Amino acid sequence: MSHPEECTLCRSSNTRRVQSFDTAPIVERWRELYEVEIASEFALLKQFELWTCGDCGLQFFLPASICGSSAVYERLDRFSWYYLPQKWEHWQALADIRGFRPVLEIGCGFGDFIELARTKAGIVVDGLEQNLQAIQTARGRGIVLKASSLEEMVDSSRAKYGAMCSFHGLEHMARPGEFLRQCCELLAPGGRLILGLPSADSFLRLESNILDLPPHHMSRWPLRTIQFLPHLFPLRLLRLAVEPLAEIHVSGYVDAHCRRIARKLFPLANHPALKTRLKKFLLRTGFRKFLKGMTVYVVFERT
Ligand SMILES: [Zn+2]
Repeated sequence: MSHPEECTLCRSSNTRRVQSFDTAPIVERWRELYEVEIASEFALLKQFELWTCGDCGLQFFLPASICGSSAVYERLDRFSWYYLPQKWEHWQALADIRGFRPVLEIGCGFGDFIELARTKAGIVVDGLEQNLQAIQTARGRGIVLKASSLEEMVDSSRAKYGAMCSFHGLEHMARPGEFLRQCCELLAPGGRLILGLPSADSFLRLESNILDLPPHHMSRWPLRTIQFLPHLFPLRLLRLAVEPLAEIHVSGYVDAHCRRIARKLFPLANHPALKTRLKKFLLRTGFRKFLKGMTVYVVFERT
């Protein structure tokens, strides 16, 4: 893959390879950390690559074939931290979908946002989900989700939706540009597209996180890429907000910053006692609300 590869978002060939990754240590790390076997996700591939686009700024992984199958997500489901109920971005979206009908959430996991919208705002949200185990769990809670893909819906439901939401979906897709194009076809003019995703400008940029790589994540989104979307799709940016540092991310935030300071400046910064103190301080005082967290929340209007 030495010639420029097409950007998976804007299809530009103004791209360059940033880094190659060996698959073997990644497979091993998943076994150690999660007891999850992902070797089959890479098939016989020994390496994959990270590319960046000079036009839209997206960072994307290739080849597309290493995008995680639903089996990966079914195995991650058993961790309580994986599908966190009541995310910050869910509360943001509640206000932004009010008055826009019908609403569709794509990739709704166990249906937590659907439940929140119903109980807190009296808003009915339809849901799509590819993970069959998650569909079953949602059904047990009385939430009926559809297993169909967006692609299947485009013909029958063109310009149907008043609002569409995708929380932590884009970064998992091999072809996010195709997904956004389909969202625009399904949205009625004036409708809202609401996205929540990890910001590549957050503390995630400081070091490589195993879940920020394939087969889990297929792309990384700097804020400038999100702001560039209206140049590629019939969308107008209405709102962009970054989550305050979440309780669950305090540990990762402190570890990443301290390791970086230790590498560049001051080796003692990575001392375990110092990090424990910092984490306790951030968790106890509420100071974390003044720090930038991982998720970026964005609202677009379909033009
Ligand atoms: Zn691009």
